[in-house]
Amino acid sequence: MAHIVVLGAGLGGSIQAYELRETLTSNDKITVISNKSYFQFTPSNPWAGVGWRKQKDITVEMGPVMKRRGIEFIHDGATKLDPESNTITCESGREVTYDYLVIATGPDLAFDEIEGFGPDKFTESVCHIEHAVKSGDKWEDFCANPGPIVIGAVQGASCFGPAYEYIMTIETDLRRRKIRDKVPMTFVTSEPYIGHLGLGGVGDTKGMLESIFRDRDIKWITNSKVEKFEEHTLHCTEFNADGSEKVKHELPFDYSMMLPAFRGIPALMGIEGLVNPRGFVIVDDYQRNPKYQNIFGVGVAIAIAPPVITPVPTGVPKTGFMIESMVTATAHNIPLIIKGEEPDEKPTWNAFCLADFGDRGMAFLAMPQNPPRNLNWNSQGRWVHWAKLVFEWYFIRKVKKGVSEPWYEKFIMKMLNIDKLKSNT
Ligand SMILES: Cc1cc2nc3c(=O)[nH]c(=O)nc-3n(C[C@H](O)[C@H](O)[C@H](O)COP(=O)(O)OP(=O)(O)OC[C@H]3O[C@@H](n4cnc5c(N)ncnc54)[C@H](O)[C@@H]3O)c2cc1C
Repeated sequence: MAHIVVLGAGLGGSIQAYELRETLTSNDKITVISNKSYFQFTPSNPWAGVGWRKQKDITVEMGPVMKRRGIEFIHDGATKLDPESNTITCESGREVTYDYLVIATGPDLAFDEIEGFGPDKFTESVCHIEHAVKSGDKWEDFCANPGPIVIGAVQGASCFGPAYEYIMTIETDLRRRKIRDKVPMTFVTSEPYIGHLGLGGVGDTKGMLESIFRDRDIKWITNSKVEKFEEHTLHCTEFNADGSEKVKHELPFDYSMMLPAFRGIPALMGIEGLVNPRGFVIVDDYQRNPKYQNIFGVGVAIAIAPPVITPVPTGVPKTGFMIESMVTATAHNIPLIIKGEEPDEKPTWNAFCLADFGDRGMAFLAMPQNPPRNLNWNSQGRWVHWAKLVFEWYFIRKVKKGVSEPWYEKFIMKMLNIDKLKSNT
């Protein structure tokens, strides 16, 4: 019998536990440890940020679901990992030992790296549901007394999609309230151009997103490094392509949300050979850490080098579909290793994304995620908004039911030949 611990119960960790339940034997024990008692469907957080979703709509209490699936669920935060003794120490003082560990702890949000930044200071956040709900409340106050808005992503950010989604959703909401004319909007980003997305662009995402911004009267500043936030002012410097300083900006705002840089959680920081200097888990082609071969990493918690160096640092996004491919490979490889065989499934890390704009949206597929690619595809329209609603319904339902692949997912995957996109073998 082997004991497998999954650390984190977000988008990656929850389905990792379900998939492992199906690939391991009933003698093997699975434990999930999470610092939150619930799963949150993070992709819907931008909607919560304008009050279109409440916390209860997009969260699922994990204890009862895990129990039904025969998985132990421990609601406790990990404070220390000792990979030499295979031991996790938790906030409560509890120690949990494992034979195999899957780290799925997502990002630690590095708001503290910029003065005045974050939901405890002068800007809003949609990264966690608790932040997004607070932003949604603030949004109502703002709409009663509108002014300039600044949305975007700071230096070192890797997750740009939600910044585009949030500014577009906000723009849609303002038009519906008929106060769009009272709100000058600026998108400020560390990306070298609009639509770069940390991926070097996907097909013509540059042209499409610039065109949508022009159409919706949204100004933009790229290659931006934020110096500090004051209560109603963002101070940033715009850089040229050669890295030289172009111009300094002082942008007034009455409402601002900027995506922060991510890093690994404190419990992992500084573990030589396990994580990189930012605390992200180093993995090989099989999602396994090369030094501690009984440790795997999935989701935002893993290290992926940026495909291109940009004048202002940017990272690579780890999106839902990529994460599912990491989870599937890990669920396949751990049982093989337990049997004494070699792992043989490689995740594709293909990026498929639905970016919602509140009433329509943009979809893109990058295969593989880093250029040059075998396939670049993107499209836009109302269908993306509807597809995102279906995706939200289906994913939350899947987590609630505790199944890794419900019948309708199997059916859709077969129809669209999606298995090919998930697996490399
Ligand atoms: C606002 C936003 C919107 C996004 N929208 C999309 C989208 O539309 N499409 C898409 O493909 N991708 C999207 N992403 C990217 C990505 O899919 C999500 O970030 C996704 O939630 C990442 O999954 P994860 O499992 O790696 O991390 P998370 O879902 O963040 O899960 C991490 C888990 O670890 C737990 N944890 C953290 N620290 C500890 C600790 N010390 N001890 C124990 N547990 C801990 C957390 O409570 C959580 O359960 C979005 C990201 C953000 C931030």
